[in-house]
Amino acid sequence: MPKPRIAIAGIGHESNTYSTRMTGRADFRILRGPEIGDDASLPAAAEVDWAPALVAYAAPNGIVARDAYEALKAELLERLSAATPLDGVLLRLHGAMEVEGIGDGETDLLMGVRDAVGPDALVSGRLDLHANLSPLAAATADVLTAHRTAPHVDARETLGRAARHLIRALADRLRPRNCLVKLPLRLPGEFAVTDHEPARSLYARLVELECHPGILDASLAIGCAWTDSAHAGVGTWLVAESEPHQARALALAQEFAETIWRRRGEFGPDVPTGELPVVLERALASAQRPVVIADSGDNPGAGGAGDTTVVLEALLAAGVTGALVAGIADAEAVGACCRAGEGESATLALGGKLDRTSGRPLELRVEVERVVPGVLAVVRAEGVRLIITSSRSQLSEESHYLEAGLDPSAYRIVVVKCGYMSSYLKGIAGERLMALTPGFTTLRPACVVDRATGWATPAPGGWGG
Ligand SMILES: [Zn+2]
Repeated sequence: MPKPRIAIAGIGHESNTYSTRMTGRADFRILRGPEIGDDASLPAAAEVDWAPALVAYAAPNGIVARDAYEALKAELLERLSAATPLDGVLLRLHGAMEVEGIGDGETDLLMGVRDAVGPDALVSGRLDLHANLSPLAAATADVLTAHRTAPHVDARETLGRAARHLIRALADRLRPRNCLVKLPLRLPGEFAVTDHEPARSLYARLVELECHPGILDASLAIGCAWTDSAHAGVGTWLVAESEPHQARALALAQEFAETIWRRRGEFGPDVPTGELPVVLERALASAQRPVVIADSGDNPGAGGAGDTTVVLEALLAAGVTGALVAGIADAEAVGACCRAGEGESATLALGGKLDRTSGRPLELRVEVERVVPGVLAVVRAEGVRLIITSSRSQLSEESHYLEAGLDPSAYRIVVVKCGYMSSYLKGIAGERLMALTPGFTTLRPACVVDRATGWATPAPGGWGG
């Protein structure tokens, strides 16, 4: 049998429609043709005649500007058409892209891809665990498979799975079907960390589901709670190998959806979560070092601006010492620190420029300790050390701290703009807490706060419940 010819394409974005920011063309990293490069998770060129077309990705942010999306889509489809005839297309998607004036981006893109490659080519897509999959998108693609871990440590594995299913379907002349069941349930990602119940056992079940005869794959996507779309929310789907297996796949997906529904009351944060004052009080009283606090309302990993100063202000007001705030995005402030120079002092109007709804720039006198021009500045304000970054960043990996020349484990308190924590942050934390702070990724709609104690529990019925 000749090698199948498969194009690689995709536009990936997690759109937070509660953000006042917009995602424009300049926010996308665009790879064309050979720039897409070899991926070790994919079968080698000896097996497949790969036709890399266009892959674009932007960090989570506000809704995607229509002109930016349409230009990317037009070029992607043009490159696919130029690569025809194709046996298949492997799509790298996120699944929570929302486009100005269009709505669900993946549905629109998948329909465009189908038109460009014709009805016979097979389309297989890799999605994020936070995808808001629509029924039309599920019906337009032949195979869709989503990550099974949050934090996502299996992104490459998921892409490899999407490719393997596609190659097998082509070799065996299968016409797979995605059998989707959506649940009337909207959960923030913080309530479905996959080493924590109930997500842990629900995700483990996927491996059993895909072992049924005639089933190619099984997925559970939590969805992106901050995308205000008709399809936002939890969905589960099984991929039937072909039409005769569709009824069984749908019945299994329905049964699994009922299991998820029965367990909906168990979804919740994997760490104590509460109002900022009680979180700080507990952190200061803790014997553990460091206490890592998630500034959850301003999480750039889910579209937060990453520049609110609420927690910094609270630490300064309380006269806390031994704290590290990592970090605040402010290119102007990094520039001001560079001009002042290391070892000098500077007066900053810090943060509050990207998210203007959750605070204002904070007037602050700082000692500049380290600058990496165009990247970051490390400064000290009273007892608090602070990393200021030039771009919106989630400082969740060791490399970020090495670049800043800091060891976060040496601090009493480390504040990070994140929701659920990365493996690195979990590894260094003596204790982990999550603060209900303001911002585009606020967790308040998903929580009930006890007024007497300030601690939060999951809202019954999920988001807004
Ligand atoms: Zn995700």
